[in-house]
Amino acid sequence: MSLDIYNKKRNFKDTPEPKAKKSIGAGGLIFVVQRHDASHLHYDFRLELNGVLKSWAIPKGPSMNPNDKRLAVMVEDHPLGYADFEGDIPEGNYGAGHVDIWDNGSYEPVDEKGEPMPENSFAKGLRAGSVKFVLKGKKLKGAFALVKFKEEGNNWLLIKHRDEYASEETYSSEDFAKKSSLNYTKAKSKQTKSR
Ligand code: MN
Repeated sequence: MSLDIYNKKRNFKDTPEPKAKKSIGAGGLIFVVQRHDASHLHYDFRLELNGVLKSWAIPKGPSMNPNDKRLAVMVEDHPLGYADFEGDIPEGNYGAGHVDIWDNGSYEPVDEKGEPMPENSFAKGLRAGSVKFVLKGKKLKGAFALVKFKEEGNNWLLIKHRDEYASEETYSSEDFAKKSSLNYTKAKSKQTKSR
C-alpha cells in the first residue's frame, strides 16, 4: 500500500493529522500504539517498515496475556510522522475523534527461533501473513506475533508469546489508558467523540 490512500482519505485543511510526505528513515525501527476514541473506540497498532508505518486497528487493544488473540484489522499505511500524533480529528473528517499515544518504543523483527532478522525479511513475512517481533515499549514488552487468519481480507491476530514479560492475568488496554496518556482526561471532559 502506498501513502496515497492515507492522503486521499483526509482533508488536511481540516484535520491536524500530518500529511504524508516521502520519509527518511532515521535508523532503528519504531512502533506506536494510539488509542483512538472515534465512532468505535479502538487501538491503532503501527510498526515502522521501509519508511512507512504498517497499521492495524485493534478493537480491544493489545494484550500481554498469551491466551488473548486480539483481532487486528490491517488498514492503510501511515506516514512515519504519524507516530507523534495526538489530538482531535474534527467532526466530519475521516476517523473523527480523539487520538492519544498509548505506548511507543522500538521493535525488532525476529525469526522463528527469536533471532533478529533484517527489515526486508520481515516485509516478506508480512506479505506471507505471519511475522514475529520483539517490542521494547513502556507497556508492551517482549515477543509478539501477527498472523493473518484468512487468505482474503485484512483480518490478523495479535498474539503475545510466552516469555518473561507475558502475563496470565486478565488484560484490558483500557486499564492502562488513563495512566499513560496526557490528553485522556481532557478528551473525556470535552466529549469530542463522534457517533
Ligand atoms: Mn484509528
